[in-house]
Amino acid sequence: AELGDRLRAGSPPAGRTPRIYAVASGKGGVGKSTITANLAAALAAAGQRVGVLDADVWGYSVPQLFGVRRSPIAIGGVMLPVRAHGVRLMSTGFFVSEDQPVVWRGPMLHKALEQFLADVCWGELDVLLLDLPPGTGDITLSLLELVPDAALLAVTTPQAAARAVAARVVRMARDARMPVAGVVENMSAAVCAHCGDSTPLFGEGGGDALAEQAGTEVLGRVPLDLPLREAGDEGVPVVLRSPGVPSAVELTRIAATL
Ligand code: ADP
Repeated sequence: AELGDRLRAGSPPAGRTPRIYAVASGKGGVGKSTITANLAAALAAAGQRVGVLDADVWGYSVPQLFGVRRSPIAIGGVMLPVRAHGVRLMSTGFFVSEDQPVVWRGPMLHKALEQFLADVCWGELDVLLLDLPPGTGDITLSLLELVPDAALLAVTTPQAAARAVAARVVRMARDARMPVAGVVENMSAAVCAHCGDSTPLFGEGGGDALAEQAGTEVLGRVPLDLPLREAGDEGVPVVLRSPGVPSAVELTRIAATL
């Protein structure tokens, strides 16, 4: 509850420790950030106080997914998270221009993450989602250390190759004694907008295999869905923009289990 204590500092003593999920994947492009953003927006829409810390320092996509790009306000040494779609956000993307590379190395990354956790006035939160960079690099290691009370949410596609690399992240979390909250399989099948038929474009079984390997369960399967991609490009989470489409229905259902 170490981070919980720090997040509570400055809040009324009645404050509770937030539930913290570290959303991770083996490789990029499997939809980890999209899933994170939508789970956050769905939880906020259900009345929870939600924060998203974009720990994908180099490949941040939280500003894009929430359609905001402005510098957080700093008051007396603390920063206020940026609010969008009912969610409190913090991302390196708020501090750099879009085409500027973030060139920090290990120690600086660790420091930046520490500041995002400790010097950001998150206020009272029910849930904090950490959008990890893909893989098992420096940042993931730092976060395991900085946020020992997080639970891992592993995102994979159904493809065997994606599942295999995601398994390494799960292994890393287990070695650090981080509990695994579950697996979200993304891009599970493509649903035809015309006939409603579904095609397993990226194969089948990755989610189940990963969950079995990790001794956890598949929390849900999010289909490949055009409105999900469009919503991300527009900067509005699909669960808010088009709540009736297949991906949004499933993401909202998964959020309710967190
Ligand atoms: P990651 O965080 O794993 O690198 P992103 O969340 O950035 O992946 O997603 C990569 C791309 O795939 C984005 O353009 C996103 O809109 C798209 N995408 C993710 N999940 C889906 C899905 N279920 N259906 C359609 N497009 C998706």
